Amino acid sequence: MIEGGCRCGAVRWRLDADRLPLTYACHCLDCQTWSGSAFSQQAIVAQDRFEGTGPVGQFDLPSADGLRISYQMACPICFTRVWNTNSSRPGRVVIRAGSFDNSHRLTLAAHMWTIRKQPWLKLEPAVPAWPEGPPRADEFYRLIGAPVMGG
Ligand SMILES: [Zn+2]
Ligand SMILES: [Zn+2]
Repeated sequence: MIEGGCRCGAVRWRLDADRLPLTYACHCLDCQTWSGSAFSQQAIVAQDRFEGTGPVGQFDLPSADGLRISYQMACPICFTRVWNTNSSRPGRVVIRAGSFDNSHRLTLAAHMWTIRKQPWLKLEPAVPAWPEGPPRADEFYRLIGAPVMGG
């Protein structure tokens, strides 16, 4: 069982898995703003293997075209954003990498939106990176070991 949670410990999550999932980094402006840092890092896992507990606060953010809704889960006490789901990606949960208890053991499988990355950050050439979003979602999901879903 893999576990994690928010900064104050009120919100916790458990992932039914033997090993840590792969993660990816997004360097887009939204991710910089939302993480309050240089980039966001997260893992995509199967929702039926994930369980969150505690007083979860939810923030719903529609996409600009109104076709998708991002459901952001955060701790209402310490305001750590811990995981999210998206109406366009049913069955998957996106876990914020920093919320893993063993975040120091995570590995990174891909970078996206490197056109917007902070200039001091040097990326390992062996790690796949795209200037903007990944051109093919199925290849991206396979690369980061995300659960394969229909559609
Ligand atoms: Zn908290
Ligand atoms: Zn982003």
